[in-house]
Amino acid sequence: MSIPPAASCRRAGAGRYKRVRIMGLQSTLFQFFLPPQCPCCEKFSEEGEQGFCSNCLSQIRWIEPPFCSICGIPFISQEVKTHPCGACVTHTRYFTMARALGAFEGSLQEAIHRWKYEGKTYLTSFFAEWIAEGLNRYWKPGSLDLLIPVPLHPLRLRERGFNQALLLVKDLSHRTGIPYRKKILQKRKPTIPQVNLGGVEREKGVRGTFYVADKEELRGTSVLLVDDVYTTGATVNECSKVLLGGGAERVDVLTLAHALRSS
Ligand SMILES: [Zn+2]
Ligand SMILES: [Zn+2]
Repeated sequence: MSIPPAASCRRAGAGRYKRVRIMGLQSTLFQFFLPPQCPCCEKFSEEGEQGFCSNCLSQIRWIEPPFCSICGIPFISQEVKTHPCGACVTHTRYFTMARALGAFEGSLQEAIHRWKYEGKTYLTSFFAEWIAEGLNRYWKPGSLDLLIPVPLHPLRLRERGFNQALLLVKDLSHRTGIPYRKKILQKRKPTIPQVNLGGVEREKGVRGTFYVADKEELRGTSVLLVDDVYTTGATVNECSKVLLGGGAERVDVLTLAHALRSS
């Protein structure tokens, strides 16, 4: 089941969020007045074409089975069945299952970068549409009680102007009717940049950084934790641990992309 190109070909809704940065607002306005452009490579679209261009779409590696039944990382061999990967067998995973839409590479990686670091918040609509398809594919209707974004520390939030996971969650909640809570899970201290760190260092780096602010609302719930990228899983695993400790009955994870391991 691949994501149908039609899903990516609707124009992003301009001005959807009240709190966009000036840069994001400008680019949204440009999108409105200019002929449609590919939101990823910014090439002007062919006549009748909207959304990601065919070249960018063709570079996205959508994640399909067989993959790890726990963390969702795709297996290289197509001959195996879905089963837990080695890393999930040897490490405690507090979430029950994590799923992602595509591999974190090529045009998807580029688009996520533009969205997060260049303030192109109009990309949220495209991403939320894909992620909603993922939710419908992997979770039965009625099985999730709450959507919770991986939080950003207030310092980081001030720098970036928005939490990309919260943008996704708001749009996803609107599409699915599943309520979201942005204040239940909070971040106590900013995480040091983790780009070049391995799994063990990342686990240490995130330990103790999250806490649950409202246990009452969490009690007995089935939570879907949402983020943009699953890298080593250290962040979502720590969040899941804290949410279970705060009373959630089950935590699952949905991300736009999953970084593939080089080894
Ligand atoms: Zn393109
Ligand atoms: Zn795994």
